[in-house]
Amino acid sequence: MTTEAARYFSRELLSWYLEIRRDLPWRQNRDPYRVWVSEIMLQQTRVDTVIPFYERFMEKFPTAAALAEAPEAEVLKSWEGLGYYSRARNLQAGAREVVSLHGGVVPDDKEAVASLRGVGPYTTGAIMSIAFNRPEPAVDGNVMRVLSRYFCLEEDIAKPATRVGIEKLAASLIPEGSAGDFNQALMELGALVCTPKSPGCLTCPVLQHCEGRMAGKEHILPIKTKAKPPRPETRLAAIITGSGEHAGRILVRQRPESGLLAQMWELPHVLFAPGGDSTGSTAAKRRGRGAAAKAAAAAAAETAAGAAPSALEQHARQAEYMSRALSAEEGLLVRPTSWWGEMEHVFSHIIWDVQVFRAEFGFWVQSAAKQEAVTLAGAAAESAVFYEASSAAAESQALPANYRWIGPEHMKELAFPNVFVRILRDYWNELD
Ligand code: SF4
Repeated sequence: MTTEAARYFSRELLSWYLEIRRDLPWRQNRDPYRVWVSEIMLQQTRVDTVIPFYERFMEKFPTAAALAEAPEAEVLKSWEGLGYYSRARNLQAGAREVVSLHGGVVPDDKEAVASLRGVGPYTTGAIMSIAFNRPEPAVDGNVMRVLSRYFCLEEDIAKPATRVGIEKLAASLIPEGSAGDFNQALMELGALVCTPKSPGCLTCPVLQHCEGRMAGKEHILPIKTKAKPPRPETRLAAIITGSGEHAGRILVRQRPESGLLAQMWELPHVLFAPGGDSTGSTAAKRRGRGAAAKAAAAAAAETAAGAAPSALEQHARQAEYMSRALSAEEGLLVRPTSWWGEMEHVFSHIIWDVQVFRAEFGFWVQSAAKQEAVTLAGAAAESAVFYEASSAAAESQALPANYRWIGPEHMKELAFPNVFVRILRDYWNELD
C-alpha cells in the first residue's frame, strides 16, 4: 500500500459521501441511542427493510429509558419481522444498563460503550465515531470487502487476525475530525457501489488507485473460507382449531425463556425425524435447502428403494408422526384432518421446511400419562367419534401456562417468528 493511495482513498471517499449521502432516518441527528438502535437493526438486514421498523421503534421507544421500562413482549412485538430476536433482547438489556449505570445517557466513553450488552467491536466503533466523532474504526463484512479490494488484501477475512489487521488499517485511514462521516462513507461505498457480487467499479469514486481492480481481482476478493451450510430440518406444525367456547380460534404456544426464538409464540410443531434422520431424507441434506429439492430427493431415494410414496402418503405419514410426537412431548392429543401447506424459514444455522396440517383438538394428558397418550393417539387418529366426544369437555380444561387460544385480533399483541406470521396470515385470509 502506498501512502498516496491511502490518502487518495480517504480524501475521495469522504468528498463523494458528502455529496451523495442518503437521507436516512438515523442520520437526522447524532443521538448515540438512535445510532445504536440503527446499527443493531442493520446487522444482517437491508437498509430498505430496516427503515419502517426503525421509525416505528423510535416512535415507541424514543429514549434508552423508554426502551428500558417497556415490557419485553412489547419490544419483541415491535421487532417482529426483523428476525434475529436476540438482538432486540440484548438491546433492551443494554438500555437498562445505560439507565442504571449512566443515568439514561449513552456515555462518550469507548470502554463503557463496549461493555454494554450486545455491543461488539463494530457497533462500538460505529457509536463512538458517528455519535461522538471519535477516530474509532467500525469494521464489518462490508468494510472488510471494500478494503480487501481497494488494497488487494488476500488474507482470509474469516480469520480473527485478518480482522484485527483491517481494523488497524481502517483506523489509519480516518481523516482528522471526520471519523463519523468517513466510517459512514465506507459503509455507503460497500452498500451502493462496491457490492458483494457486482462491484460497480466504473462509477466508483476511488477507482483510480484501486489495487484489486488493477490486478483484475475485484470479483474474487475478499477471500473468505466458507461457513458450514445451514442444516435442513423438516418441522410438522398443527393449526389446531377450537370448538365450543373456542370456536373460530386456534391453539398457539410460547417458546421457552432461552434458546432459539426464546419467548416467541408459534403453532405447536415437532421435528420430523423418522428413524433418527431429522430431515427424512439424506439426499435432502446433500441438496441443502428447499422443499422442492427435498421432495425431489425423497422421491429419488424412494424410487431407488423401489417404492415412491405419493405426496398424499407422505403427508399421511407425517400427520401420524406429528400426532404421536405432540402427545409424547406435550401431552397434547390432536387429530390431523388434512395437509394445509408448507413454508420455508432460513436461520443462520438451520433451514426449517415447515409442513402444516389442520387438526382438531383432542385433550391434554398429564405428564404421568403421556405414554398412554401415545398409544391413544394411534387409536384415536382413526376415530372422529372419539374426538368429538372428548374435545368439548377437554377444551374447557385449564391450558398449560405456555398455551392459549387466539383469534386474528390477538396477532397484534403476540410476537411470532416470521414463518408463523406468514402461515397464520394466509390461514386467517383464507377464512375471510
Ligand atoms: S474500484 Fe471496484 S473493486 Fe475497487 S473499491 Fe471501487 S468498486 Fe470496489
